[in-house]
Amino acid sequence: MSSVTGVLLCAGSSTRMGFDKLQKPVAGRCAIERSANALIEGGVTEIVFAVSALSRSFCETLSLPVPKKIVEGGAERRDSVRNAIGVSAGDIIVIHDAARCMVSPSIVRESIRSAEEFGSGIAAVSVSDTVFLSDEGTLTRLPREKLIRMQTPQTFRRYEILQAYSMTGSETADATDDCTMYALAGFTPHFIEGSEDNFKLTSPADFTRAEKFFTRYGTGFDTHRLVEGRKLILGGIDIPFEKGLLGHSDADVVTHAIMDALLGASGLPDIGHLFPDTDPAFKDADSMVLLSKVVETMARKGLHPAGVSAEIICQRPKLAPHLEAMKKRYSDILGIRCDDIALSATTTEGMNDEGKGLCISAQAVASVR
Ligand code: MG
Repeated sequence: MSSVTGVLLCAGSSTRMGFDKLQKPVAGRCAIERSANALIEGGVTEIVFAVSALSRSFCETLSLPVPKKIVEGGAERRDSVRNAIGVSAGDIIVIHDAARCMVSPSIVRESIRSAEEFGSGIAAVSVSDTVFLSDEGTLTRLPREKLIRMQTPQTFRRYEILQAYSMTGSETADATDDCTMYALAGFTPHFIEGSEDNFKLTSPADFTRAEKFFTRYGTGFDTHRLVEGRKLILGGIDIPFEKGLLGHSDADVVTHAIMDALLGASGLPDIGHLFPDTDPAFKDADSMVLLSKVVETMARKGLHPAGVSAEIICQRPKLAPHLEAMKKRYSDILGIRCDDIALSATTTEGMNDEGKGLCISAQAVASVR
């Protein structure tokens, strides 16, 4: 096994977007952290961050399971790479733009394998659109079957890429990536299959696309006993019935299942942890208030509900007339459209504890990004 240095380029100016795109959370984690994790999962054994004044402190405090080094980025991409490979220790160097935070560990792994075997492994994709060269009003159709688009990671044997970057002549002035430098130095690049998902965060629309890419799912389930002398509250709605659900809080079983689904999707501890039933603060608590606390807790991680689906398992009373009102309440608290909330109710045809009227249960699925 080779030792592998990941060079993560975090020095790009973000002025085009009006904020530091590399530190803005994408479904809870910023591009720098996501890219670093993908490199490590892909087999990198140390990371060199090429930073700007904007990204330095984040990179310095980011905790990683592998050693890291920080170098100053340069005015041009190639200056940043030159600084970073100068302090690298690996036999193989994986150079990656932090803005390509959708990169999969398998692409990183394949680029390392390719560099071990062929000297380089450059992620690239073919072109499926028709492409024209537009030059002062003259259009020339390019043969798309011969076109390839470069991505990162671009991975090389250390001594070869050091040699390539030792060139500083005018011929390197237009080099916008490592593959160009490598080819200019006389080496033959070896390509590996990149991915359309491995795009670069450049415009605000890219963030919307990335958020969708990182959507996560969680499930939740809950049951409460039906007893006399309690109100029946489901989905935040007071439902007329001769019995209600027993519990420390208002025992809103649907909301509890939804909270657990949201927390699970967010990688957060479940409601038993968050709102223990031994804590008097939650005695008779309104579960919709607890749900809004869950949404706040998620927001602190940069995560937001994207969709919720829940099914209530209940023999009696009939819940269909109340589902729309429940949806409206969830929509207000979760900050998502009623269309993104699915609620249904089912009986168990008289079977099981729900069917015998001993309890009401609910199961939920939530998506989060
Ligand atoms: Mg419960």
